[in-house]
Amino acid sequence: MIYFDNVSKIYNNNSFALEEVNFSVEPQEFISIVGHSGAGKTTLLKMLLAEDKPTQGSVFFESADIHSLPKSKLARFRKRVGTIFQDFKLLPQKTAYENVAFAMEVAGRTDKEIESDVPHALNLVDLEDKMWHFPHELSGGEKQRVAIARAIVNQPDLIIADEPTGNLDPINTYDVVQILKKINDLGTTVLLTTHNKGVIDSLGRRVITIDQGRIVRDDQHGRYVL
Ligand code: ADP
Repeated sequence: MIYFDNVSKIYNNNSFALEEVNFSVEPQEFISIVGHSGAGKTTLLKMLLAEDKPTQGSVFFESADIHSLPKSKLARFRKRVGTIFQDFKLLPQKTAYENVAFAMEVAGRTDKEIESDVPHALNLVDLEDKMWHFPHELSGGEKQRVAIARAIVNQPDLIIADEPTGNLDPINTYDVVQILKKINDLGTTVLLTTHNKGVIDSLGRRVITIDQGRIVRDDQHGRYVL
């Protein structure tokens, strides 16, 4: 589904942020990327989301080189990817329901689809009783669950979760990881970046470790070694 083919990225300062990165991800995999701060995780996600171009190499999504896609196809590719961030990125003036509905409106979905799919997505993250709450009325874990509902509501093929538990306590971290596992079990590919050893250990799934821009481990069975 995803294929990094010898990807290197050098920013202006001439040091490698990524160096000859090669890996592929199968549909329905759950893969975590770990590494110290500055290792290259954010750069890797930027390459994958086509927010920035590699200096060398290619990134494929299915058979398409995402950095060579015309604008219309790039927009279509982005619709197939849901994103979740450490700082939630919810719209503060909108309720949980409206935050999720807005993602559907932007994707051009009908009112009828919105009315049926938004409660369903909020139900999947156990927040149906807080649909009409605003972000400031929700805990950190609840906010992240709204963000997950928003990421899945358009039924993406891939979820990218960038340090999704970075601002959460252990109980909420556990809940968020369980929800991501559930989404993966329902058939969506998940790519997660994390610093949290407990998350990696509880997942027991594939882990790629990067250090100074290079892949130093690719472990099928969830070991966090830094
Ligand atoms: P991580 O997400 O693992 O903390 P990053 O991908 O942010 O790592 O950074 C990898 C390396 O690339 C670091 O040395 C960082 O300083 C450098 N870097 C990241 N973004 C830029 C940029 N826009 N310009 C110059 N250097 C950058």
